[in-house]
Amino acid sequence: MAQTGLDTDVVIAGAGPTGLMLACELRLAGAGVAVVDRLPGRTGESRAGGIHSRTLEVLDQRGILDRFLAVGELTPVGHFSGLWLDFDGVESRHPLPLMILQSAIERLLEEWAAELGVRVGWSSEVTGIRQDDDGVTVELGAAEATLRARYLVGCDGGRSAVRKLAGIGFPGTPATMTALLGDVELPGLPEDFIFMRRCEGGHFSALALEPGWHRVITSEYGQVADRDDAPTFEQLRAALIRLAGTDYGMHGPRWISRFGDAARQADRYRAGRVLLAGDAAHIHYPAGGQGLNTGVQDAVNLGWKLGAVVRGQAPESLLDTYHTERHPVGERVLHNTRAQSALARPGAETEALREVFGSLIVIDDVNAHLRGMITALDIRYPADSDHPLAGRRVPDADLKTPDGATRVYELLHAARPVLLDLRGTGAPAAVAAGWADRVDLVEARSDTDSWSVPAIGGIQAPAALLIRPDGHVAWAAAPTGRLGTSALRAALTTWFGPPRRG
Ligand SMILES: Cc1cc2nc3c(=O)[nH]c(=O)nc-3n(C[C@H](O)[C@H](O)[C@H](O)COP(=O)(O)OP(=O)(O)OC[C@H]3O[C@@H](n4cnc5c(N)ncnc54)[C@H](O)[C@@H]3O)c2cc1C
Repeated sequence: MAQTGLDTDVVIAGAGPTGLMLACELRLAGAGVAVVDRLPGRTGESRAGGIHSRTLEVLDQRGILDRFLAVGELTPVGHFSGLWLDFDGVESRHPLPLMILQSAIERLLEEWAAELGVRVGWSSEVTGIRQDDDGVTVELGAAEATLRARYLVGCDGGRSAVRKLAGIGFPGTPATMTALLGDVELPGLPEDFIFMRRCEGGHFSALALEPGWHRVITSEYGQVADRDDAPTFEQLRAALIRLAGTDYGMHGPRWISRFGDAARQADRYRAGRVLLAGDAAHIHYPAGGQGLNTGVQDAVNLGWKLGAVVRGQAPESLLDTYHTERHPVGERVLHNTRAQSALARPGAETEALREVFGSLIVIDDVNAHLRGMITALDIRYPADSDHPLAGRRVPDADLKTPDGATRVYELLHAARPVLLDLRGTGAPAAVAAGWADRVDLVEARSDTDSWSVPAIGGIQAPAALLIRPDGHVAWAAAPTGRLGTSALRAALTTWFGPPRRG
């Protein structure tokens, strides 16, 4: 018989960047959350070393970006398979990538989660799940403890137990290379920074992490290590000697790890009451630094939807839009990282291909296209409307309200939908009166008539906008002409449920 007593609304498996961001988004949406992780606590290890514009914007939308800017360093360094991208002219208030270690990102997200009332349950490995009509029972450890919730989200990384337990397929392509990573002392390195230096068997990098410490990455093609064998310092040293002809006096390893270019994606992001986000839903070659960014953005897409469903404000079908919107985004990341892996192979043919590609990447439109993809600023979710903003992330325009100056992203701090009336007619608010309990109605004027949109360029500021909590545009009215009342009503109903009666 179904066990119906709930411990919380949502259990999140995994306290990595994706799980933590999702926990915060759910709390902002008013949902109860329990986060569990199989580790005994934070390891302090860092795979990722940077975040891109769209993730910076997302953090800005929640009013927590300054915490990250205080720790990391903005640098104009971004690449496509080691070929440099130019960040001049990025259509964002935060055009440059922020160099910040994953351990710091996790610490800052965990601090924010704690402020919102979320504590991580460490040493709690998800080992079993049982779904029924009313909820999902999550077994922890050797089923000695269970948690019961309405939904479970697997944010438990590339080898996700939740994905396997839910029977979700993970098709894709296997690894064709092996990369070893070590945080080490490297006293014999003649320069601070070697990035993707190409050699006969692959390429290597040696990047200064902090005074006295370097991150060494060796990438060798044509050989694939067994995923279950723990990588060793000696393997890293041998690989560096094979590629660079020296180990640069490498010693004192802090952390040794391994990765490859396998590219796989969950065939569905939802199976009943179980959903997947982050690496649990997609793995790929880490070129261009997109995995953590994609996971955080998955979380921001899912959080408000799942929050609305558990609070009874939206139908369950809203959850299916999570797959519809985010699966193609993950697919595109897999696609571009496969291309980057192919471009990184050793050999004369690849050398020629890189030269051709290198001469193309300096063309403004090519650079802007690749940059839009890597920064995720050009994402457009499926939209019914042909307005250029529909489905895209809203630009962070400067605004004037009766209360003073503000900007669009400041209006999104509470993670609530915003209906922005930029002509002050009051007409949008009249249409949305039945949603006033869920949607913030804001009258403002745009400081500028032209808004800059990635992949499009300048467009005329709209007359009104309906912005989802994740910062994507659900509906926009043309600068002049009719408001489009029925389209606005349809968008409000689709995304935020039916109007309140009376
Ligand atoms: C060398 C390298 C460099 C990278 N650089 C970048 C970069 O610059 N930018 C970028 O965006 N991305 C980068 N990435 C990718 C990035 O590290 C990952 O995409 C990111 O960590 C994914 O976050 P996540 O929260 O989805 O999963 P994870 O970080 O893997 O977290 C999963 C969590 O789930 C827990 N867990 C696992 N199984 C269970 C279970 N059964 N029960 C409970 N808990 C469980 C784990 O302990 C872990 O804490 C890089 C990756 C590599 C390898």
